[in-house]
Amino acid sequence: MTPETRAADFDAADPLADYRERFILPDNVIYLDGNSLGALPKATPERVQELVEKEWGGGLIRSWNSAGWFEMAGRIGGKIAPLMGAAPHEVIACDSTSVNLFKLISAALQMRPGRKVVLSEPGNFPTDLYMIAGLEAQGLAARRLAERDRIVEALDGDVALLMLTHVHYKTGALHDMVAVTRAAHAAGALVLWDLSHSTGALPVDLNAAEADFAVGCGYKYLCGGPGAPAFAFVAERHQADLRQPLTGWFGHAAPFAFSDDYTGAPGIERLQCGTPPVLGLAALEVGVDLIAEIGVDRLYAKSQALSEFLLECLMAHDVQLELVSPPRSADRGSQLSFRHEHAYAICQALIARGVIGDFRAPDVLRLGFAPAYLSFADMAAAARYLAEVLTSGEWQRPEFNQRAAVT
Ligand SMILES: *Cc1c(COP(=O)(O)O)cnc(C)c1O
Repeated sequence: MTPETRAADFDAADPLADYRERFILPDNVIYLDGNSLGALPKATPERVQELVEKEWGGGLIRSWNSAGWFEMAGRIGGKIAPLMGAAPHEVIACDSTSVNLFKLISAALQMRPGRKVVLSEPGNFPTDLYMIAGLEAQGLAARRLAERDRIVEALDGDVALLMLTHVHYKTGALHDMVAVTRAAHAAGALVLWDLSHSTGALPVDLNAAEADFAVGCGYKYLCGGPGAPAFAFVAERHQADLRQPLTGWFGHAAPFAFSDDYTGAPGIERLQCGTPPVLGLAALEVGVDLIAEIGVDRLYAKSQALSEFLLECLMAHDVQLELVSPPRSADRGSQLSFRHEHAYAICQALIARGVIGDFRAPDVLRLGFAPAYLSFADMAAAARYLAEVLTSGEWQRPEFNQRAAVT
């Protein structure tokens, strides 16, 4: 049996196969970068057009009330919440992941007076590490990094906050959210999880893990579109005491009282700062609705099957690439990463053949599996192309070796 015939059998039995029709994807593209920018849901252009023409063009300022613009951030947060084991009133869609990190790191530091250390791991996503720097410059935080197998022992009485990315962006390696959260709490620290590569891809249960805070992206597995608003989670038990530093008027208890003094809104709305990006929220809502309709459990089951099958196809083609992701699908998120000295050029050569993955410096080829719109036939084809790119040496062509500024 060739990989292609096995793929046909898997596709015929795939309960999610029809969801591909709910996305707009170019012909002849195998999109293995939905972990970086999710594909476009078919319903999004129509919804955005409706918002622009009817709600903005026709409703004008009245639409803040009549079209529910005021409630959008909370409403969409409430729809993201069940995807990660949170209650609807614990999540809001707002700002970017970076900005939400800043707000929540600062809030956590204020909840642990006398402690300044924000503990994370080297190689965490850059913005997560960089967002500590601004607080360090103000003398409010001190960054400490510990390798993932040393994190628990690095949790001493100086640590205010442990901040980790649940699924590592480069390798896909998964942290044990329950165990790590428990260890941090035992040391008196709070925990902030970055779920950028988790939400919408695999089951997460923030409240079962007793997580304190979480953030994540709207434009990756949630298919909210480029620059989509991010989300933030604050456990209910912390909401009353939460003090975040970006005390803008949209986080005020009564924005339209136009008072001179700031009083934070009682619940998760306090995390808002300025006027929400309504167009971006509208696009995000379509993606969230679609991912919620399919269901995270089914998406995760298929993503595991896809990645296992891709590995099997690579073996069938005798492709020898160093896997940097955990070999067991239960230990990784929805991606496979391979190390190769010429990963950049190989990635470019694959893109030229229509297989869009991505390169992560210095030497990682990353293939993401957003199972809502991928087939097993896509895996068989991607593996075949990768084998051909490697054996033909076509990646050595000069045009595949000229690096662009943004990859
Ligand atoms: C993608 C990603 C981000 C992106 O943050 P932005 O503010 O949206 O640019 C942050 N953290 C992690 C772990 C990511 O994977």
